[in-house]
Amino acid sequence: MYTQNPNKLHNADGNDTSWKRAVRRSVRTWYSRNARTFLWRSKNPDPYIVLVSETMLQQTQTSRVQGKLPEFLALFPSFDALASASNAAIIRAWQGMGYNSRALRLRDCASAVVRQHNGCLPDDYVTLRSLPGVGDYTANAILAFAYHKNVAVIDVNIKRVYSRLLRPMATTHEVLAEGVLRPFAETVVPQGGSSTWHQAIMDIGALFCTARKPKCNDCPLQKLCASAGSMAEAQPPRKTEPMHRLEPNRIWRGRTVELLRNLPHGMAIPVRELMNRLLTAPHTTDDEHWFAALLGGLQRDGIAEEADDAVRLKE
Ligand code: SF4
Repeated sequence: MYTQNPNKLHNADGNDTSWKRAVRRSVRTWYSRNARTFLWRSKNPDPYIVLVSETMLQQTQTSRVQGKLPEFLALFPSFDALASASNAAIIRAWQGMGYNSRALRLRDCASAVVRQHNGCLPDDYVTLRSLPGVGDYTANAILAFAYHKNVAVIDVNIKRVYSRLLRPMATTHEVLAEGVLRPFAETVVPQGGSSTWHQAIMDIGALFCTARKPKCNDCPLQKLCASAGSMAEAQPPRKTEPMHRLEPNRIWRGRTVELLRNLPHGMAIPVRELMNRLLTAPHTTDDEHWFAALLGGLQRDGIAEEADDAVRLKE
């Protein structure tokens, strides 16, 4: 069942229970001495803090979340406090995190928890998935980290570690399909230890099994891993995204929100002036159409509001 390499012992299909036991043992031993400490990691974390931190951690680095989370919790310490916050208050509190729509969905989720669940975050997958902004990853992360349920949590980092561990990946960019990974992900989780297990795999993904340059020689899974030391470094394919003046629209959008965020509370800025602050003159007709579309998107997403040719954060 095992494939023997000079220094490696790995399993070709991930079904071998003794290989899984060895993986669990290595992970547990390493984590017991090297776990990273974060505000959102504790033995009995508050489900509210798990929801907020997991939302923040989507597309934002842990170091930034570590700094922002206490500030956010000081402003909105509970589902009730968050549920009653205005769009503008949430967007201001989200400064530096990017992807502002996430913050509004988080507030909408808090409102649904207050209105439909008496302020208690549900502890079953189906009900969690019915909440605004809660996808498959977040639902399972809440079940594992807040309620210690034996579920498989698969985010982009865990997917990378599991793929490499299970099968020899030719390049650092390659990962296995979800259908191949899920059965392994569901059976490798130690009974009763889902929270710690996933935190450990996340730490291994962040510290050793990184996207571009994995540090296989230092990794606690090296001797059990099908890809250790054998992957060619590869860049992910370049994403094509809408651009304006050679920069992605999402960057322009972030800058626009930042300009609105820095206005005195409740103040609006004339659309023309906002455009002047954002784009160096002279402006073309193309610039004007593009900027109108950008503002339209911010309004549709509940981030900005426009009246009398002036715009501000939506109150
Ligand atoms: S040995 Fe290398 S490829 Fe395998 S899990 Fe560790 S860092 Fe990743």
